[in-house]
Amino acid sequence: MDETHNKSGEALPHNISLQRDEQGWFEAEGDKLAYQGNPYYLNLALQHDGIRRQLIPTKQEMMFLDTESSDPLSEGIHSPVPRMIHRYGNRVAVLVTDRCSIHCRHCFRRSFTGKGHADLSQSECDSIIGYIENHKEIQEVLLTGGDPLTLGDSSLLEILKRFRTVRDDLIIRLATRIPAVYPRRINPDLLREIGRLSPLWMVIQFNHPEELTPESRRALRIIREAGIPMVNQTVLLKAVNDDSDILARLFQGLLREGVKPYYLFQGDLARGTSHFRVPLERGWQIMDELRVKISGLAMPSYAVDLPGGGGKIPLNRSLLLRTTKTAYVFKNTEVDGREYEYPRETE
Ligand SMILES: *Cc1c(COP(=O)(O)O)cnc(C)c1O
Repeated sequence: MDETHNKSGEALPHNISLQRDEQGWFEAEGDKLAYQGNPYYLNLALQHDGIRRQLIPTKQEMMFLDTESSDPLSEGIHSPVPRMIHRYGNRVAVLVTDRCSIHCRHCFRRSFTGKGHADLSQSECDSIIGYIENHKEIQEVLLTGGDPLTLGDSSLLEILKRFRTVRDDLIIRLATRIPAVYPRRINPDLLREIGRLSPLWMVIQFNHPEELTPESRRALRIIREAGIPMVNQTVLLKAVNDDSDILARLFQGLLREGVKPYYLFQGDLARGTSHFRVPLERGWQIMDELRVKISGLAMPSYAVDLPGGGGKIPLNRSLLLRTTKTAYVFKNTEVDGREYEYPRETE
């Protein structure tokens, strides 16, 4: 069998010369998130190492730590209806599809992504909508996955319109990495239709300033001209963007395109992602440096999804209760007010 091929993803072309750690992944056996790329992002990856690391797997992914988990956010325990996660009172997340245009090597939902699950069915969608109708406290629905924009135009619009009819004031959040990784997918006709479904926000993910290409900036312009507000979530990734100059360029560049930097995420404890995680102390240092390089408007909030279902918290030093030899202890105010630990890892 062709070693660089896999069932679900697009094979890596033969003419790519792999580095040793990359070759090691393709040769290794075991529990893997399949390689998946596309020509646009692969071309970028071959020009910039910080992008290559997000696309081409390395054998470090085969290393699993005891602190890591296949369900790092304990989404399973907050799923009252299949394909829906209700962890915060006023908002729910819906897993529309398990497909993505590329498989990001840092994916935290890697035990779901690209595993051959069917797309959200009519009846699953009915159950979720029934749940939202019965829970008036829900004000926002996040459509995520996988990447909802991998659906065809008509399927995507059908799902969006169904959620739109639940309540006029229900805010729809569409989470997608497509503008960064496959910008050609963003076409004016589709976006004009999506733009009619307000209140609707798009939450995008750019992790590196070199992802802001003429093509991706054109995609952002199409979204903006459709009247859709956008925020960006960046994942803090070692040897990709763990540098305040790189992040300053990214956040300033996004602001220029009309995108508000929303979160800078500390890495989740997903299995096989330790080589991407940046120690918290370093993250705090980067945030301090950023604040004097860019405006307040360009600053995201540094946050983490606490392992064990603690939910997202802003990583303000004020929420840090104490530091032990092995962990940082935080108090989560929004989910349950309990204490949650995030491990202390070193470089
Ligand atoms: C991240 C997330 C949200 C949204 O959280 P915000 O802090 O409002 O962006 C909602 N539900 C789930 C399950 C999430 O993981």
